[in-house]
Amino acid sequence: MSNKIALAVHGGAWGIPDELVEACRAGVQQALERGWAVLEKGGTALDACEQATVELENVPVFDAGVGSHLNRDGRVQLDAIVMDGATLKSGAVAAVERLRNPVQVARLVLERSDHMLLVGAGAEQFAVEHGLSLCNPSELVIARETERWYQERASSPAPLASPSAGQAEGGSGGSGTMGTVGAVALDAHGNLAASTSTGGTAGKFPGRVGDSPLVGCGGYADNLTGAVSATGAGEAIMKVVLSKAACDLLACGSDPQAAAEKAVALLQERTQGRGGLLIVDRKARVGAAFSTARMAYAFRTTDSDPTVHV
Ligand code: ASP
Repeated sequence: MSNKIALAVHGGAWGIPDELVEACRAGVQQALERGWAVLEKGGTALDACEQATVELENVPVFDAGVGSHLNRDGRVQLDAIVMDGATLKSGAVAAVERLRNPVQVARLVLERSDHMLLVGAGAEQFAVEHGLSLCNPSELVIARETERWYQERASSPAPLASPSAGQAEGGSGGSGTMGTVGAVALDAHGNLAASTSTGGTAGKFPGRVGDSPLVGCGGYADNLTGAVSATGAGEAIMKVVLSKAACDLLACGSDPQAAAEKAVALLQERTQGRGGLLIVDRKARVGAAFSTARMAYAFRTTDSDPTVHV
């Protein structure tokens, strides 16, 4: 049994513009604090990941929960996963439109169902049957993303409907179309967990599901190796099953930093895809690597003070 604890959180690997750096930094820092408070009190890695990810979903600067990118039809469709390294069970939801915090429903799927992935209306029905309330889809839409949607439509006209009329605060617009969030944790009982949540890619085809909610792609956790949350070009990440590939590198003897770097190199070499990932291993060591211009992330371990990078 390990008494060391570790938590790492991210707000996506992408070309974060200068004007969004501070908001991203504050967002990952808050999420780290919320998740760390859970671990510090002896809470589980699953709880720490869920709490940190809820915090990130609630910050509009990220492409998860409120503030997510709109799809081709002007709607937000969300994907999320949580994985338990003790049992290898995961829970995930995909293409949901009426859940403010899809990671909470992913956790319910993990713990209160025999299934690993529920999509669309079925996932929303599952949430309701387990006591969560649905939101109006417009509550997830912010002005920044509506503006982006209209700009993209102007540059490549297509027969689209208007986006849902939500007007939550979104801050100033920014270039780039990413900002998936996630967390990886090791608790004092030696259990590892991972979570990832996203609105996916801007202008995606309705019903498109990326890597994020797919076990082994957007996230993976195994108590024998480590926990991983990935972000970046989803279709490329799926090709190399990136998060599981990173865990396999740990199993072959790489330390978390080397495993993260090799996994990102693998993604680039085999798919030309770009992205990033965070790893926490069973010894409470952290690895972080990305091939995009920036990645917003923060981590803390028993052996290291809180660190924030954007
Ligand atoms: N991987 C996510 C997706 O393709 C996007 C991201 O990580 O930014 O849906």
